[in-house]
Amino acid sequence: MMKQLYLKRDSKRGVEGTFNWLVDEVAELGEELKGCNREATEKEFADVIAWLASLANIMGIDLEKATADKYSYKCPKCQSLPCSCTF
Ligand SMILES: [Zn+2]
Repeated sequence: MMKQLYLKRDSKRGVEGTFNWLVDEVAELGEELKGCNREATEKEFADVIAWLASLANIMGIDLEKATADKYSYKCPKCQSLPCSCTF
């Protein structure tokens, strides 16, 4: 969906510019987490994943596939569901 919506514009901005937007959105999410406005927090989560998808798209990475390949219902480190790693 993000590819259909924004790939042309995202491609013009480039990897560095899009990454910088992603970082800004993560910072905004961090600020929103300090508050108690659930609706605003949901929107910041949406912005973060949207910009992450945009960055993946301009790099030709299928974000959904990459995530499913690495985290296919098991922890990539301990291979368990749920994770049984000790931290
Ligand atoms: Zn684990």
